[in-house]
Amino acid sequence: HYSTSSGIAGVRERTLIAVKPDGVQRRLVGQIVHRFEQRGFKLVGLKMLKASEDLLSQHYHELKKKDFFPYLLCYMSSSPLVIMVWEGHNVVQTSRMMVGSTNPAEANPGTVRGDFGIHVSRNVVHASDSVEGAQREIQLWFNHTELIDWDCCDHSSTYEL
Ligand code: UDP
Repeated sequence: HYSTSSGIAGVRERTLIAVKPDGVQRRLVGQIVHRFEQRGFKLVGLKMLKASEDLLSQHYHELKKKDFFPYLLCYMSSSPLVIMVWEGHNVVQTSRMMVGSTNPAEANPGTVRGDFGIHVSRNVVHASDSVEGAQREIQLWFNHTELIDWDCCDHSSTYEL
Protein backbone atom coordinates (compact mmCIF):
# COMPACT_ATOMS: atom_id res chain seq x y z
CA HIS A 1 0.00 0.00 0.00
CA TYR A 2 1.86 3.01 -1.28
CA SER A 3 0.39 5.84 0.74
CA THR A 4 1.78 4.43 4.01
CA SER A 5 5.26 3.73 2.70
CA SER A 6 5.55 7.10 0.97
CA GLY A 7 4.46 8.84 4.20
CA ILE A 8 6.85 11.19 5.96
CA ALA A 9 8.75 8.45 7.85
CA GLY A 10 9.59 6.49 4.69
CA VAL A 11 10.47 9.61 2.75
CA ARG A 12 13.01 10.55 5.45
CA GLU A 13 15.03 7.34 5.05
CA ARG A 14 18.72 8.09 4.55
CA THR A 15 21.72 6.22 3.19
CA LEU A 16 25.45 6.75 2.98
CA ILE A 17 26.97 6.75 -0.49
CA ALA A 18 30.71 7.15 -0.97
CA VAL A 19 32.65 7.64 -4.16
CA LYS A 20 35.76 5.58 -3.47
CA PRO A 21 39.32 6.66 -4.38
CA ASP A 22 39.14 5.02 -7.83
CA GLY A 23 35.90 6.88 -8.61
CA VAL A 24 37.37 10.23 -7.53
CA GLN A 25 40.63 9.60 -9.42
CA ARG A 26 38.68 8.71 -12.55
CA ARG A 27 36.58 11.91 -12.28
CA LEU A 28 33.30 10.01 -11.88
CA VAL A 29 31.95 12.09 -8.97
CA GLY A 30 29.66 14.21 -11.15
CA GLN A 31 28.17 11.26 -12.98
CA ILE A 32 27.46 9.44 -9.72
CA VAL A 33 25.87 12.48 -8.06
CA HIS A 34 23.83 12.99 -11.23
CA ARG A 35 22.31 9.50 -11.04
CA PHE A 36 21.00 10.05 -7.51
CA GLU A 37 19.67 13.52 -8.32
CA GLN A 38 18.04 12.25 -11.48
CA ARG A 39 16.31 9.43 -9.62
CA GLY A 40 14.68 11.99 -7.32
CA PHE A 41 16.65 11.55 -4.12
CA LYS A 42 17.59 14.54 -1.99
CA LEU A 43 21.21 15.31 -1.10
CA VAL A 44 21.45 16.17 2.61
CA GLY A 45 25.21 15.94 3.20
CA LEU A 46 28.39 15.91 1.12
CA LYS A 47 32.09 16.20 1.84
CA MET A 48 35.47 15.23 0.50
CA LEU A 49 38.07 13.76 2.81
CA LYS A 50 41.05 11.49 3.02
CA ALA A 51 39.92 8.78 5.46
CA SER A 52 42.14 7.32 8.17
CA GLU A 53 42.63 3.56 8.41
CA ASP A 54 41.09 3.76 11.89
CA LEU A 55 37.84 5.30 10.60
CA LEU A 56 37.77 2.83 7.71
CA SER A 57 38.24 -0.15 10.00
CA GLN A 58 35.22 1.04 12.02
CA HIS A 59 33.26 1.48 8.80
CA TYR A 60 34.19 -2.02 7.56
CA HIS A 61 34.23 -3.70 11.02
CA GLU A 62 32.27 -6.71 9.71
CA LEU A 63 35.07 -7.52 7.24
CA LYS A 64 38.01 -7.50 9.68
CA LYS A 65 38.66 -11.23 9.29
CA LYS A 66 38.64 -11.22 5.48
CA ASP A 67 41.90 -11.77 3.61
CA PHE A 68 41.34 -8.66 1.52
CA PHE A 69 40.77 -6.38 4.58
CA PRO A 70 44.34 -4.91 4.76
CA TYR A 71 44.29 -4.21 1.01
CA LEU A 72 40.83 -2.65 1.31
CA LEU A 73 42.00 -0.28 4.05
CA CYS A 74 45.17 0.60 2.17
CA TYR A 75 43.26 1.41 -1.02
CA MET A 76 40.40 3.26 0.70
CA SER A 77 42.86 5.49 2.58
CA SER A 78 45.16 6.04 -0.43
CA SER A 79 43.44 9.14 -1.78
CA PRO A 80 40.28 11.20 -1.16
CA LEU A 81 36.72 9.95 -0.92
CA VAL A 82 33.55 11.90 -1.58
CA ILE A 83 31.01 10.94 1.08
CA MET A 84 27.34 11.75 0.72
CA VAL A 85 24.04 11.25 2.51
CA TRP A 86 21.00 10.85 0.28
CA GLU A 87 17.41 10.91 1.52
CA GLY A 88 14.13 9.57 0.14
CA HIS A 89 11.60 6.78 0.05
CA ASN A 90 13.31 3.36 0.18
CA VAL A 91 16.65 5.02 -0.58
CA VAL A 92 18.77 2.24 1.01
CA GLN A 93 17.38 -0.56 -1.14
CA THR A 94 17.06 1.55 -4.30
CA SER A 95 20.66 2.75 -3.96
CA ARG A 96 21.92 -0.83 -3.70
CA MET A 97 20.10 -1.56 -6.97
CA MET A 98 21.55 1.56 -8.59
CA VAL A 99 25.06 0.65 -7.43
CA GLY A 100 24.91 -3.01 -8.49
CA SER A 101 26.64 -6.19 -7.30
CA THR A 102 29.81 -5.91 -5.19
CA ASN A 103 31.81 -7.51 -7.99
CA PRO A 104 31.52 -5.23 -11.05
CA ALA A 105 32.05 -8.27 -13.28
CA GLU A 106 28.63 -9.47 -12.05
CA ALA A 107 26.93 -6.07 -11.90
CA ASN A 108 24.20 -5.33 -14.42
CA PRO A 109 24.74 -2.68 -17.09
CA GLY A 110 22.92 0.46 -16.00
CA THR A 111 24.30 0.18 -12.46
CA VAL A 112 27.26 2.31 -11.35
CA ARG A 113 29.53 -0.71 -10.90
CA GLY A 114 28.18 -2.38 -14.06
CA ASP A 115 28.90 0.74 -16.11
CA PHE A 116 32.21 1.87 -14.60
CA GLY A 117 33.95 -1.10 -12.99
CA ILE A 118 35.75 -4.34 -13.81
CA HIS A 119 37.41 -5.64 -10.63
CA VAL A 120 35.91 -6.25 -7.16
CA SER A 121 38.68 -4.34 -5.42
CA ARG A 122 38.02 -1.20 -7.52
CA ASN A 123 34.25 -0.98 -7.51
CA VAL A 124 33.88 2.81 -7.57
CA VAL A 125 31.22 3.34 -4.88
CA HIS A 126 29.98 2.33 -1.46
CA ALA A 127 26.28 2.16 -0.54
CA SER A 128 24.90 1.17 2.89
CA ASP A 129 23.25 -2.25 2.84
CA SER A 130 20.47 -1.78 5.44
CA VAL A 131 18.57 1.02 7.15
CA GLU A 132 20.31 0.24 10.47
CA GLY A 133 23.70 0.02 8.76
CA ALA A 134 23.05 3.37 7.09
CA GLN A 135 22.26 5.03 10.43
CA ARG A 136 25.48 3.66 11.93
CA GLU A 137 27.59 4.74 8.95
CA ILE A 138 26.04 8.22 8.76
CA GLN A 139 26.86 8.77 12.45
CA LEU A 140 30.38 7.52 11.87
CA TRP A 141 31.16 9.83 8.94
CA PHE A 142 29.04 12.92 9.64
CA ASN A 143 28.57 15.31 12.50
CA HIS A 144 24.84 16.18 12.81
CA THR A 145 25.57 19.83 11.95
CA GLU A 146 26.86 18.66 8.56
CA LEU A 147 23.48 17.15 7.61
CA ILE A 148 21.07 19.65 6.13
CA ASP A 149 17.28 19.50 6.53
CA TRP A 150 15.80 21.30 3.59
CA ASP A 151 12.61 21.27 1.51
CA CYS A 152 13.00 20.29 -2.10
CA CYS A 153 10.62 22.42 -4.18
CA ASP A 154 9.62 19.52 -6.46
CA HIS A 155 8.56 17.26 -3.57
CA SER A 156 4.92 16.98 -4.72
CA SER A 157 6.10 15.97 -8.20
CA THR A 158 8.21 13.17 -6.70
CA TYR A 159 5.81 11.92 -3.99
CA GLU A 160 2.06 11.80 -3.54
CA LEU A 161 2.25 13.01 0.06
N1 UDP B 1 36.07 -6.19 -1.49
C1 UDP B 1 37.27 -6.60 -2.05
N2 UDP B 1 37.43 -7.92 -2.39
C2 UDP B 1 36.45 -8.85 -2.21
C3 UDP B 1 35.22 -8.42 -1.65
C4 UDP B 1 35.08 -7.09 -1.30
O1 UDP B 1 38.18 -5.81 -2.21
O2 UDP B 1 36.64 -10.03 -2.56
C5 UDP B 1 35.90 -4.77 -1.13
C6 UDP B 1 35.05 -4.02 -2.13
O3 UDP B 1 35.57 -2.70 -2.23
C7 UDP B 1 33.68 -4.00 -1.45
C8 UDP B 1 34.10 -3.85 0.01
O4 UDP B 1 35.24 -4.69 0.13
O5 UDP B 1 32.85 -2.96 -1.92
C9 UDP B 1 33.05 -4.22 1.00
O6 UDP B 1 32.59 -5.53 0.75
P1 UDP B 1 31.05 -5.90 0.94
O7 UDP B 1 30.95 -7.39 0.84
O8 UDP B 1 30.52 -5.23 2.17
O9 UDP B 1 30.38 -5.31 -0.39
P2 UDP B 1 29.51 -3.98 -0.70
O10 UDP B 1 28.54 -3.80 0.44
O11 UDP B 1 30.46 -2.84 -0.84
O12 UDP B 1 28.82 -4.29 -2.01
